[in-house]
Amino acid sequence: MAKIKNAGPSIFVVAMIAGLVGYILGCTRGERDQPAQAQSVAANQQNVETQPSEQSSRARLTDPNGTVSDRYVYYPGTEKLGSDEVRIVACGTGMPAARRGQAAACFLVELGNGDKFLFDIGTGSMANIMSLNIPADFLTKIFLSHLHTDHWGDLDNIWAGGWTGGRTRPLEVWGPSGSRDDMGTKSAIEGFRQAYNWDYVTRWVKISSIPGQITVHEFDFKGVNQVVYDQNDVVIRSVPAIHAGDGPVSFILEWNGYKIVYGGDTAPNNWFIKHCRDADFIVHECMLTPEQLMEFYGQPAPRAMMMQSDIHTSAQAFGKVMSELKPRHAVAYHFFNEEATRYAIHDAVRQTYAGPLSMADDMMVWNITRERIRERMAVSADDAWDVAGPTPQPLPDKKFPPQESEFTLKERWLPAIEVDNEAFRDFRKKHGLPEPGKR
Ligand SMILES: [Zn+2]
Ligand SMILES: [Zn+2]
Repeated sequence: MAKIKNAGPSIFVVAMIAGLVGYILGCTRGERDQPAQAQSVAANQQNVETQPSEQSSRARLTDPNGTVSDRYVYYPGTEKLGSDEVRIVACGTGMPAARRGQAAACFLVELGNGDKFLFDIGTGSMANIMSLNIPADFLTKIFLSHLHTDHWGDLDNIWAGGWTGGRTRPLEVWGPSGSRDDMGTKSAIEGFRQAYNWDYVTRWVKISSIPGQITVHEFDFKGVNQVVYDQNDVVIRSVPAIHAGDGPVSFILEWNGYKIVYGGDTAPNNWFIKHCRDADFIVHECMLTPEQLMEFYGQPAPRAMMMQSDIHTSAQAFGKVMSELKPRHAVAYHFFNEEATRYAIHDAVRQTYAGPLSMADDMMVWNITRERIRERMAVSADDAWDVAGPTPQPLPDKKFPPQESEFTLKERWLPAIEVDNEAFRDFRKKHGLPEPGKR
């Protein structure tokens, strides 16, 4: 209308608009009395926006200062999970060289009974986990599909960050054995503990040592549909995977009649096909196309082919797997998801699979109920703080000796201590702390 006004109304234009409005009103008024076929013909002839408002099921906002009922995004910490509901958050969906826009593999599964499980914790994923505002004490169970860094590279981050963030108990890590002792999860965690020894020892002097411990549950990578976890009516099984070396696995979680599958890196394999049927939700890797691997990843053609099919799953093979397994919903991940890549990958998946599909990106969220599986994106804080859990962290154990010798301590710079003492005088008083030098 504004355009017509600016152009200068003429009697001709006004007459045309009046005629059109009269025609549309006539059609819409008469619609309810028309047979269905006539209605659809009339609808096709009209602008959709002219349909009567009562026909839309969308909630209306009538109060100009009101709030909308659905903003089509997930705001962490604002939605109580239903007792018979599952929520899954993609905290990492990318590749080994994590980038700011996409971390490496990590999927959080939250169950209506309160249990939460992290499946892989790839490089960069902890910042996304943090943005979900979940107390560290609720995030202690981590299942590793294999020991490539893009699947466990942020274990250090949740280990130390959760520790300083108020966790009161040890982390628990479940992961597969390897072809030799030094290739298994137990060995990896022992090595991790050794690599971070300075962090561990200096931290336990200052805060409780218990949250710095890691309990390892290593299981046989060869186990087929073997139970690796069975607590609180949640059963998690593993199946072997085909990926670069002996050891990698995929996981199948069952709870309350729901079946959720988290596929680690793998070429399509018989174990997965046999045991991941009848799933509500399957997360499975889906590699970049060979052309993309050459263009963006600098891979020579033979290696691009090898990455596609020998150690990973191509997009068309991903589709084939999903067409065979027919989950209620399929999720493709493990590719850098951007304008330059997603359409070719999606097209290749669609050559072989027509069912429900998400092309995963970080902070994609799915709510799973009996009735529906809903995909949204989370909108969360870049500057998230830890959220206090139900239990305060215990104090440090006095038995641990100080780790600073006289050599270090005697060189504290006195002028800084003096200004601190001055600055902290009121703070000490307010919080009942002793004067400097007194205990
Ligand atoms: Zn891998
Ligand atoms: Zn990977």
